[in-house]
Amino acid sequence: NADFRGFVSGLNTTIPLPSGRYTTAINFDNAATTPAFNYVLHEIIRFAPWYSSVHRGTGFKSQFSSSLYENSRRVVADFVNADLTNSTVIYLKNTTEAINKVSHHLCNSPEDIILSTYMEHHSNDLPWRGRFQLEYISIDPKGRLDLKDLKAKLEKYNGRVRLVAVTGASNVTGAVNPIHTIASLCHNYGSRILVDGAQLIPHGGFNMRPHDSEEHIDFLVFSAHKMYAPFGIGVLVAPKEVFEKSPDIVGGGTVDLVTHDYIKWAQLPQREEAGTPNLMGVIALISSIRVLKTIGMNKISAHELSLTGFLINELKKIEGIELYGDTESNNRVAIIPFNITGIPHDITAKILSYEGGIAVRNGCFCAQPYVQRLLNITPEYIEERINDPSLPHPGFVRISFGLYNTYQEVAVLIDILKKIVKDKDYYYKLYKNFDYDYFPK
Ligand code: PMP
Repeated sequence: NADFRGFVSGLNTTIPLPSGRYTTAINFDNAATTPAFNYVLHEIIRFAPWYSSVHRGTGFKSQFSSSLYENSRRVVADFVNADLTNSTVIYLKNTTEAINKVSHHLCNSPEDIILSTYMEHHSNDLPWRGRFQLEYISIDPKGRLDLKDLKAKLEKYNGRVRLVAVTGASNVTGAVNPIHTIASLCHNYGSRILVDGAQLIPHGGFNMRPHDSEEHIDFLVFSAHKMYAPFGIGVLVAPKEVFEKSPDIVGGGTVDLVTHDYIKWAQLPQREEAGTPNLMGVIALISSIRVLKTIGMNKISAHELSLTGFLINELKKIEGIELYGDTESNNRVAIIPFNITGIPHDITAKILSYEGGIAVRNGCFCAQPYVQRLLNITPEYIEERINDPSLPHPGFVRISFGLYNTYQEVAVLIDILKKIVKDKDYYYKLYKNFDYDYFPK
């Protein structure tokens, strides 16, 4: 029963419930965003008197800021074992922006084929649409990637697949993909691999260069706000040679020389980081990496999976709870989707929040095609819903643990779920039309 709560800020926050009662907030929505490490906040404050514009000044503070900013790339590269000789570490806003950038640079002709999968977040699906011939690798009924289909598609398009864009771990079912096996397959067929590491990295870290060189990862993207640092900073690691085109976002910082009819782009990675860089974000990111390494990714993963196993076992014992995904496998991160039979996901989420101060997320989690498949939603229903937005939106409730969650918190959740299931009609009627506004105008 590891206790990492001391590392994380804001955990003993008392919040109001609609009943007028107060309670300690429980956060089971870490897949969306994690609270910040105390050390991260401390480092932001410690550094605040020293910051100045990056790459734009000769003053001491500006030089200091620029030096910190540039040196940080090595810390990030070490964390994921990136090859800084052939690849570059680019700071962007988040995972979404990073994938959009890759899509911009890879697109040479609409004949290029990209393989995405049916289990992706919209951010690893929509950026590929329209620019490429896009195909999706299938999943099985439990939401696991079908590697046979991947192989068949690589074989069918032998040599024409520019990239396989796949998530490291699903933000819906928590399923972890065998990324290095997939990488090896891609390389055998002359393709490359992009790993969406947004959900994988905070739970287990990542190694871009395992021992077998065929298994190396070409592109990696992730967001700091899911790894105990605040918003606004994400990472793209990519081979230097793919940046042949003009940058997708241009302006200050991206150029070496400009006249009215000539532009010489700056070197990498600066040319891909338009505008004044987010140094405070970078300080936060490398501080969070320091804490994650200090705790140890293996310990984090073991603790979170132990909580996951405990919750899944308890949920299986409660009649009227439907679980999704592969509930037997340990090949996952700490994300558990479920529904209570007969109660829509949005009402269950409201009950957990209003009754217990438990924060979860419900709906489709920016992965609508995946959720539609897991719930066997027919194309006819989707068509009907397009025409009638008042029809129910299919989805689940999602529990996602962070390294600081505890067995006691999980026990509170289980107790409330048991209460709801026992008195389903009562809770449903009570909350069906009840929306509490914590912040009235
Ligand atoms: N991919 C996955 C798997 C995610 O879970 C998320 C965030 N929910 C994203 C991409 C997008 O991350 P961001 O919003 O930080 O761009």
